[in-house]
Amino acid sequence: MEIVILDGYTENPGDLSWEGFEKLGRLKVYDRTDPADVIKRIGKAEAVITNKTPITAATLEACPQIKYIGVLATGYNVVDVAAAKVRGIPVTNIPTYGTDAVGQFAIALLLEICHHIGYHSEAVHKGKWENNKDWCFWDYPLIELAGKTMGIIGFGRIGRTTGRIAQALGMKVLAYDEYPNPSFENESCKYTDLDTLLAQSDVIALHCPLFPSTEGIINKATIAKMKDGVIIINNSRGPLIVEEDLAQALINRKVYAAGLDVVSTEPILGNNPLLNAPNCLITPHISWASRESRQRLMDIAVSNLQAFLVGSPVNVVNP
Ligand code: NAD
Repeated sequence: MEIVILDGYTENPGDLSWEGFEKLGRLKVYDRTDPADVIKRIGKAEAVITNKTPITAATLEACPQIKYIGVLATGYNVVDVAAAKVRGIPVTNIPTYGTDAVGQFAIALLLEICHHIGYHSEAVHKGKWENNKDWCFWDYPLIELAGKTMGIIGFGRIGRTTGRIAQALGMKVLAYDEYPNPSFENESCKYTDLDTLLAQSDVIALHCPLFPSTEGIINKATIAKMKDGVIIINNSRGPLIVEEDLAQALINRKVYAAGLDVVSTEPILGNNPLLNAPNCLITPHISWASRESRQRLMDIAVSNLQAFLVGSPVNVVNP
């Protein structure tokens, strides 16, 4: 079988091996593929692996030999899964691979806001300590988290991971979820309604999926219900936040700081209002990308194709 990987670079920039796929067929890996080149690059391949390169109904029409589409991610909106289903092509995804990495990253964003370690280290290397009148200096308020409250919107796998680490730092956790599960509660972790979470949290972390019901869940009105000086963390999906409203709240100091790994349009646009907002950390959607997570993703992607080849497909999103 011919296997083509259309955009393998972010999954494996060179520190992992594609050999799992190589054992399953003749493999061609492209780092990235322009949508205009998709049909040409698929050529005669029967198994197509994509991360963010769209596979449209027109592509399926032009490449009738395709038998399998594997998505190297959890979200599979890049594939026209309905059109694939009509043609009997299973589309698989990777349901979970990065829970620990994404929870850890949410806390990393928060700790950076609390201590600005990168900034202070750079200041020391630039000579600021050497030339300092006192034996120490700090250029940002340093924030202790113990005793503070973290509100987590979306208490699923990642939300609970972030919550566990926050509790280890001495924080209380308030969780809001559409489907609360009381067995996840404990002495310092309770479910609550959204308004109570907004009103009582010192830190608000977003871990819900992007649905019509959650799009823009952080906006002018919900920010107004928050404590003054709240910290907002989002490494779920950019459109959960109305960016203009958050930028304004950072400018007028209603929100003390934001730590964001995702924005509404990615890569970020030069005119994103958050780029010029104060106290706004932005990382380029890398919460998922630890080597350990990517290896897990690779292993599951290979076993998805293997399962298809032996006639018992798993992780099929268009059954
Ligand atoms: P999950 O399905 O385990 O948890 C999501 C939780 O959100 C569930 O408990 C669900 O009930 C809840 N929820 C759904 N609708 C809600 C609503 N309207 N209000 C409140 N809660 C609601 O998913 P997960 O594995 O924890 O992943 C969470 C999100 O993290 C993903 O949807 C994705 O957007 C994001 N993510 C980001 C990265 C990254 O690299 N930045 C990587 C992986 C996942």
